[in-house]
Amino acid sequence: MARAFVYVILGGGVAAGYAALEFSRRGISHGELCIISEESVAPYERPALSKGYLLPEAPARLPYFHTCVGAGEQRLTPEWYKEHGIELILETTVKSANVKQKTLTTENGETISYRTLIIATGARALKLEEFGVRGSNAEKVCYLRNLNDADRLVDVMKSCVGGNAVVIGGGYIGMECTAALVTNRIKVTMVFPGAHCMVRLFTQKIASFYEGYYESKGVKFIKGTVVTSFENDSEGKVTAVILKDGTRLPTDMVVVGIGSRANTSLFEDQLTIEKGGIKVNNLMQTSNSSVYAVGDVAAFPVKLFNGDTRRLEHVDSARKTARHAVAAIMGPRNTSDLDYVPFFYSRVFTLAWQFYGDNIGDVVHYGDFTKGKFGAYWVNKGRVVGAFLEGGAKEEYEAIARVVKLKATVKGKDVVEGQGIDFALRA
Ligand code: FAD
Ligand code: NDP
Repeated sequence: MARAFVYVILGGGVAAGYAALEFSRRGISHGELCIISEESVAPYERPALSKGYLLPEAPARLPYFHTCVGAGEQRLTPEWYKEHGIELILETTVKSANVKQKTLTTENGETISYRTLIIATGARALKLEEFGVRGSNAEKVCYLRNLNDADRLVDVMKSCVGGNAVVIGGGYIGMECTAALVTNRIKVTMVFPGAHCMVRLFTQKIASFYEGYYESKGVKFIKGTVVTSFENDSEGKVTAVILKDGTRLPTDMVVVGIGSRANTSLFEDQLTIEKGGIKVNNLMQTSNSSVYAVGDVAAFPVKLFNGDTRRLEHVDSARKTARHAVAAIMGPRNTSDLDYVPFFYSRVFTLAWQFYGDNIGDVVHYGDFTKGKFGAYWVNKGRVVGAFLEGGAKEEYEAIARVVKLKATVKGKDVVEGQGIDFALRA
């Protein structure tokens, strides 16, 4: 079987949903665009999976969080795609690609050809086996990347209420899933190799606040070590986690969040790869002019960082790179370079933080760390390059984004420390 489309989006996640909306706004004809996804549902806002989806009361469920509600836009239900003549080819994995011939081949042997391809294959969760630890396929050991994983996690949590969980990894998944487990009345021990949680973004001082908050909810931290094996019962259900120093942690369930890898494998020998992703220019175009890459899989030049290539695994970047690629495809002459300010955020319990920019240079903390209203600026060569804020109001978050975009000059670190959020509000 063979089918041909003008535009093909490979991958049906966040970036695909935002790209589809942009295509429809710019005007495409029925039958010109298809989205191929191995998932069984239309594109949805993935961040919901570690937040609202895991709530014990009134959890978020589809169709509620289909894209593009996360950015306050239309909800693109399966009916929307039908009405707009966009074909959703679901539960279909693309097994090979040939960018010279402009074709993709699915697991069923179907060939799908395109004039322009957008690669939006995202990333996959790293498995413990990739670090030489066996047994993470045991029952009640959970990863979290897609809806199926989230459904499984919900079922496992339901069966462990009042029991214990070990969370492996102190990054985004570790922190957000721990909060969800606690809310589901499960006692959590977090294990990770770093000196503190969120080690790639948080300073020790920022991390101490969140760790203290989690400890107040009964969470235990075991830092600076890794898991080496699991113990299972006769039915293959996990019963304990063994650490490098031999410590045995009896448990009813495990959640693993040890990072991710971009899904580049179909294109590694055909397109330029950099920083673990598919390298694109500032129009999101790859080394083949008919192929664009967006979202987690794309390594793109960040103008704000003097064109330094970055691969960002965050939803705002997926949304904006997807829209930018479509703008470039539909109107290349009218599309200026992407001018993106990297933006990361998280919400756990009643806490919420946002970060903009880059976490390099000297750090200036400010605010009240005891009351949960604090922030930090990263200052490099006398200018603000990154800003973090916990517990901010809308205009305060907008202000820290602005101060980073402007690369505001810092006269003295003590001045900024004294002014705190006012420094950003006045900039
Ligand atoms: P994805 O949304 O991962 O979509 C990729 C799609 O491609 C998937 O549908 C996949 O099945 C499909 N695919 C891959 N390979 C193939 C193939 N060969 N054939 C067919 N289909 C294929 N970011 C934030 O900024 N804030 C958050 O709060 C936040 N929370 C998150 C919570 C969770 C649980 C996870 C996993 C991520 C979270 N992120 C968050 C990150 C954010 O969701 C990602 O950056 C975003 O989803 C990237 O969008 P994408 O379209 O590039 O990839
Ligand atoms: P992260 O990279 O955020 O964190 C990985 C964590 O695992 C780190 O604490 C890391 O420690 C630790 N780790 C690495 N190797 C091992 C190992 N062998 N054993 C134990 N721990 C290990 O990845 P996540 O898995 O948390 O998140 C996956 C993806 O989901 C990311 O793309 C993330 O951006 C996205 N996501 C984003 C959210 C958000 O933006 N709010 C929410 C949820 C997911 P160390 O750093 O010390 O090496």
